Amino acid sequence: FITTAYTSHPIPQCRASLSLYTALCTGPDGVHYWHKQYPYCGGVFQSPIDLQTQLLKYDPTMAPIGVWNYNLSGQEQLTLGNNGHAVKLSLPARMYISGLPHRYSAAQLHFHWGSPTLAAGSEHTVNGKRFAAEMHIVHFNSDKYANISVAADKSDGLAVLAVLIEVGEFNPAFDHFLKFINGVKYKDQRVQIPAFNVRSLLPARLDEYYRYDGSLTTPPCYPSVLWTVFRSPVTMSHRQFSMLSTALYSSSAQESASMPLNGNYRTLQKPDQRTILVSFLDGELGFQNGRLPVPASFLKYCWLLIIFASIKIYCIILMTHTHTHTHTHTHTHTV
Ligand SMILES: [Zn+2]
Repeated sequence: FITTAYTSHPIPQCRASLSLYTALCTGPDGVHYWHKQYPYCGGVFQSPIDLQTQLLKYDPTMAPIGVWNYNLSGQEQLTLGNNGHAVKLSLPARMYISGLPHRYSAAQLHFHWGSPTLAAGSEHTVNGKRFAAEMHIVHFNSDKYANISVAADKSDGLAVLAVLIEVGEFNPAFDHFLKFINGVKYKDQRVQIPAFNVRSLLPARLDEYYRYDGSLTTPPCYPSVLWTVFRSPVTMSHRQFSMLSTALYSSSAQESASMPLNGNYRTLQKPDQRTILVSFLDGELGFQNGRLPVPASFLKYCWLLIIFASIKIYCIILMTHTHTHTHTHTHTHTV
């Protein structure tokens, strides 16, 4: 989650070109030191978290996410930028989402990713599995707040759609901005690019997702985000992932030592007794009253038992019938 777009707090830079995410950074700016300058980062309801089975609760009332005005015209221009922490694309506020308690209008989207040698850089993980990358489409509550800066620190201020990305099939949707990524290699560089259908970056199914209350994943870590993490990941090709993970620097063009920009994800945060609502019945699970997960294997065995019992009963009936028939036949023959 990248905050520079809507907050007056500049994200601190580590000295000696060390990145915001470098654990070894001994200054006040490394990931383990965020809370010293930004108390919320050490507080509760932080993101990202591991979306683990024990925390899930099925909620059949959760509506599919509706995306509106996402199909932008190629005549329109969007700003692609490198803010030193991620690659970011500005979005017009007429784009909005429905299916949430308020109308949330779009502000920007950005990515978190792994390193060129380790395609594991998503912020959210699913039962410990870290995906290659993650996209965040950031929206603000436009029913209540004038803009994202005002909304950022309000408890109902933000809603983020998160898309997990794995390396696989080539995905033409990502090329809409990847083909311009070399224009923003260094921090603070920006280019104007033609707009496109932002819906194409999302997975096919918008009705299956995880939902929980969390925070910005960069300082100042306000606990103001209603998170929606889609269940299905989308893919990008190995080549597309390489472009994302090798093209950018967290240092500016003027700096003599260039610092590659990758591994820009925050460490997992504590669940803090939160429940993660899910809009779908997990294939690995059966939910009982939406609460107690019963392993799917158990349900499968129940079905097998019923089928086996049915076959056995059928066999017994068949055998009884055959026996009666033979007996009758023998009897007739004797007569
Ligand atoms: Zn993010």
